[in-house]
Amino acid sequence: MIRYISTRGPGEPKSFLDVMLAGLAPDGGLYIPDTWPELDRDLLARLSGTPYTSVAAAVMEPFIGSALKPGVLGKVLGQAYETGAFDHSAIAPLVQIGPNAWLLELFHGPTLSFKDYALQFMGRLFDHILEESGEKLTIIGATSGDTGSAAIEALRHCKNINTFILHPRDRTSEVQRRQMTTVDAPNVFNIAVEGTFDDCQALVKAMLADPKLQGDLRLSAVNSINWARIMAQMVYYTFAAVALGAPDRGVSFSVPTGNFGNVYAGWGVRRIGLPIQQLTIGSNRNDILTRFFETGEMRIDKVMPSLSPSMDIQISSNFERYLCDLMRRDHKKLNAAMSAFKTSKSFDVDATMLQQARGEFAAERTTDPETLQMMRECYEHTGILIDPHTAVGLHATLQSQQDPTIPVVTLACAHPSKFPDAVEQATGIRPELPARLADLLDRPEYVTVMPNDLQKLTNFIRSEARQT
Ligand SMILES: *Cc1c(COP(=O)(O)O)cnc(C)c1O
Repeated sequence: MIRYISTRGPGEPKSFLDVMLAGLAPDGGLYIPDTWPELDRDLLARLSGTPYTSVAAAVMEPFIGSALKPGVLGKVLGQAYETGAFDHSAIAPLVQIGPNAWLLELFHGPTLSFKDYALQFMGRLFDHILEESGEKLTIIGATSGDTGSAAIEALRHCKNINTFILHPRDRTSEVQRRQMTTVDAPNVFNIAVEGTFDDCQALVKAMLADPKLQGDLRLSAVNSINWARIMAQMVYYTFAAVALGAPDRGVSFSVPTGNFGNVYAGWGVRRIGLPIQQLTIGSNRNDILTRFFETGEMRIDKVMPSLSPSMDIQISSNFERYLCDLMRRDHKKLNAAMSAFKTSKSFDVDATMLQQARGEFAAERTTDPETLQMMRECYEHTGILIDPHTAVGLHATLQSQQDPTIPVVTLACAHPSKFPDAVEQATGIRPELPARLADLLDRPEYVTVMPNDLQKLTNFIRSEARQT
């Protein structure tokens, strides 16, 4: 059965549930499976045309093993994906936009971004586990916009969880902010930090690495450092790939990414046996990943605001997971790279590793004017409005060398109405929010503004977390 180890050193391997409840490993590393399972080819061949939940069960079972009692996974998947939280019966529909090109629409969940796909599942699973064990949990998270609302929406009804979400003040779109701050629940706390997303993420990491706080509040995280999110995101890649002919035919994906979480899930799907041909990383002007693939050096630059704010990131946390495998699980080497990254804001890999990495990913970048142009062109050629993140992904698809005989899927990571200003600027059309969110701009907001100060934040969380 699969167990989980930290990227920073194997230690005592953990079960899926321990890893999901913990979020970050105690040594500051990220959890990865001790070995990658291989999905059976016949099983994959049978998945085409089956419901999203069947694909999910097939992908998740090997990663969960006996950590859940029989029947629980199926029940939780049903609650997450088949009780109306998603407004499309396919859950993740493929829409054709060119001769061999598709968009995978990942915005049919309650907060209109792909993050709902993992978090709706995790919320139900947390609820189930905590109900059984009678424990309480404090979830803390940093968001550049979409994680926060997806987490709040998934956890607001979990009475055994207090949720604290940090967002960089004034750096998320109004719709993104309001999807978080208009939730009026006694167990949900929105904190606007005077800083960047990376500052927020560093605060969360520091709190998770504080054993005292961890023990007192039972802290956990639901951003993409949590393995359960990566696992749940592997499902829609598989769902799309089998729909387009896998395992008999290869499929390529292009993914707008910042924290490397979403595209890492695509890489994971390749590891478990899906014929993923090309995986293309789409960066905006915050192009640390693209520069890495060009130079072999990961070097932090200043975070610049862009039209795709959910990717305004200079520290791609999940890259550490990939790096660990790229370094053939040489934990010492990995630790050296991570501490260099922390102290001198940079690390590099040798030529062999760079060559391997380039064989596994293509990496492109998209400027704001190119993002606008892509949204406009997509609308002109297909009649489809796309959001600026999707535009970065689509631009990356067109920039990178694609084999025309292989279907290529661009992940449509958010609904255009989450970013109405950019969409209107590009196309002249202001996309409307879906009916269930129509009054979002009129609802009252609940938010606490705080400086970028670990001590003040810790005090706040300690005093607000309702301990029972
Ligand atoms: C979160 C988010 C991203 C970036 O996802 P990663 O996990 O960092 O790869 C891209 N687009 C949208 C719309 C998002 O919400």
